[in-house]
Amino acid sequence: MNFSTFKLKPEIIRAIDQLGYEHATQIQEKAIPQMLTGSTDIIGLAQTGTGKTAAFGLPMIQLIDFDSKRPQGLVLCPTRELCLQITGDLKLFARHVPNARIVAVYGGADIRDQISLIVAYAVLDEADEMLNMGFQEDIDDILERTPSGKRTWLFSATMPGAAAKIADSYMNHPVTITAGLPNKVAENISHACYIVKEKDRYVALKRMIDYIPDIFGLIFCRTRLETQTVAEKLMKDGYNAEPLHGDLSQMQRNQVMKKFRDRTLQLLVATDVAARGLDVDDITHVINYKLPDESERYTHRSGRTARAGKSGVSIVLVNTREVRRVKDLESKSGIRFEVKQIPSGRAVCEKQLSAMMDWLASTQVDNKE
Ligand code: AMP
Repeated sequence: MNFSTFKLKPEIIRAIDQLGYEHATQIQEKAIPQMLTGSTDIIGLAQTGTGKTAAFGLPMIQLIDFDSKRPQGLVLCPTRELCLQITGDLKLFARHVPNARIVAVYGGADIRDQISLIVAYAVLDEADEMLNMGFQEDIDDILERTPSGKRTWLFSATMPGAAAKIADSYMNHPVTITAGLPNKVAENISHACYIVKEKDRYVALKRMIDYIPDIFGLIFCRTRLETQTVAEKLMKDGYNAEPLHGDLSQMQRNQVMKKFRDRTLQLLVATDVAARGLDVDDITHVINYKLPDESERYTHRSGRTARAGKSGVSIVLVNTREVRRVKDLESKSGIRFEVKQIPSGRAVCEKQLSAMMDWLASTQVDNKE
């Protein structure tokens, strides 16, 4: 569906054209007309990478009266990175709208007073993640201060009990919109499982990376310490890898994310929390160095690849005792894992050699005599 089908203002259509969006994504197609009515609460079941920022951002910009100086829209999201990313996207959508003022508020700045009774539209983005991260009380506290007549739009990849409770408490007959299957990862992701002995986990990781010469990958660990350790080992072993976790300063995190976005960094080793809001479209592989506890988290992790219609691979490394958890994940999420063998040293050499040959063959030769 083309964006001109929605009744959006010409200023907004112009911005969309400039962004190069040609067709609305599934969630946009379903959510935008419904939101533009401004008359319903909406639950959008959609994962990251599906275009949901525009799905709520475009209608919000259309509905807000920018001639008034009052804050009218509020978007709550789980991390600072995501907050900055959403703010950036909204600014782009509103670039031709006169007087549009969009600000990011994070890191201790208290918004409670500012939102008092003047917010007409509230968005809860990645509600499941906010709840996973323990923000239930903050969400309650903030929503209780917003006026009851506002519209609430809640987005979540999954709908665990706590998110359903928020919908029950704060939303008015919400209309549910589903893009893709809520508990499933995108269809264009293939899932592979490698079973290793615990002591071989790191070596297996290296083998896998070596076997994919042009990998642009995100490696998930469970703790900050593990993230740091794995990244350090990879760096010491000559890989183009760096860690991203909450013990780094904001400046360090920004630098690492910039390198990854610019693709000067090939492997980013990250915790779930630090990787939230990382807006990178071309990740070829997500590697779960350790499986996450909840199946929803796996859905989020694997959704970092295969964004914007591309395909991708999500890999899990498990020891023999963890195989049971993979089965559990399969039954909860409907994902099917292909169990694969760690490539042998010889297979890795052959793969690297053939990548090298391809590279040589594609290199232009200067034919000067
Ligand atoms: P989001 O799920 O909002 O993080 O969006 C994921 C990526 O898809 C971002 O890089 C967006 O700029 C891009 N995107 C969103 N909507 C569209 C669209 N209709 N056509 C092409 N790209 C889009």
